[in-house]
Amino acid sequence: MSSVSDFTEGLKAKLTALESAGLLKRERPMTGAQAVDINASGKDLLNFCSNNYLGLANNSQIISAAKNALDTYGFGMASVRFIAGTQSQHIVLEEKLTHFLKTKATILFPSCFDANGGVFEALLDENDAIISDSLNHASIIDGVRLCKAKRFRYNNRDLADLELQLIAAKDAKNILIVTDGVFSMDGYFAPLEGICDLADKYGALVMVDDSHATGFIGKTGAGTPELFGVQDRIDILSGTLGKALGGASGGYISSRHPAIVDMLRQKARPYLFSNSVPPMVVAGTIAALDLIAANPELAKKTMENAALFRKLMVDNGFDLLPGEHAIVPVMFSDEHVAVSMAKALFDRGIYAVAFSYPVVPMGKARIRIQLNASHTPEEIKACVKAFVDARESLSPVVSTQ
Ligand SMILES: *Cc1c(COP(=O)(O)O)cnc(C)c1O
Repeated sequence: MSSVSDFTEGLKAKLTALESAGLLKRERPMTGAQAVDINASGKDLLNFCSNNYLGLANNSQIISAAKNALDTYGFGMASVRFIAGTQSQHIVLEEKLTHFLKTKATILFPSCFDANGGVFEALLDENDAIISDSLNHASIIDGVRLCKAKRFRYNNRDLADLELQLIAAKDAKNILIVTDGVFSMDGYFAPLEGICDLADKYGALVMVDDSHATGFIGKTGAGTPELFGVQDRIDILSGTLGKALGGASGGYISSRHPAIVDMLRQKARPYLFSNSVPPMVVAGTIAALDLIAANPELAKKTMENAALFRKLMVDNGFDLLPGEHAIVPVMFSDEHVAVSMAKALFDRGIYAVAFSYPVVPMGKARIRIQLNASHTPEEIKACVKAFVDARESLSPVVSTQ
């Protein structure tokens, strides 16, 4: 048997290996609020890598709603929902989300990670099957692992492969297809119409995790089901309060079938055994939903900013994954070049992150830029200029053509 010190020495060796492989993740402490203009690691930067899609994370109306809630509802709940952790405003937020998403019922979770962690095990058992997109979020993968249903996986957005998996799963009592609405590394949308058609053909349920869409995708911001006109064909919707909807924390499951939500209130373990969403976050998120409904130009601005950045980058010869989403992957075939580019951007006051293998496939290294409603055209142009200058500084290493 090895000693505790052998164990910690082993950890240190693994950490050193991660560092030499360039895979060690480091935090960059920011001195102020989430925004475009930030100061991090002692440097003034323009931030192009947050999920603050509507720029609401530091919105004054949301902050004042949250402050009022501190006075009225206190700091914390010190309870799970079903014991002493439900305030009237938790119900209000659930009803508002239901209205916003055009579903029938919604249940809050401490996070979307928890929503996905609890939903499968509470609804399905060993007689059922789950068919999951190969690029689904880690929380879906973990949630599926916690459930006894048989597991099937289809290649990312590949409807032909999904159909093969539906055929393979056909003996299951219930079949659930689950997909991200938007894939976070590529900014690609899931082909929801085709997925719903196949679900109808094989009698399967459909679940969409719309964390990178809720609030700004679709005509009213209701997300990818609204964008693709399949709102009344999606059975389970999960999402986060931690991105476009103010960015604090919390998640939800929403459904057009009230029985699904009713059952989650009885059986979903993160709902039953983890603390309620804090009062000020509930109030702030309610204010965020009101702001989004009253200001449709916010989401429009996010998408216009994404389109402007995409156009300027293509004009300057950069290789982007095509699309419209505010996630814009700038591609580099070489892993080291992507990392050097991100460093060169940082030196030029642009904060963006490089992703390389194993987070993305080998040879598909990228810098992921995320636009939001708060970026100005000048800031977007400054970002593009920094890309051009950074490429120059690294040439002839970087070839983007
Ligand atoms: C961000 C994200 C989550 C996690 O949301 P939290 O509320 O931060 O736990 C889950 N699923 C997807 C697809 C996400 O992008």
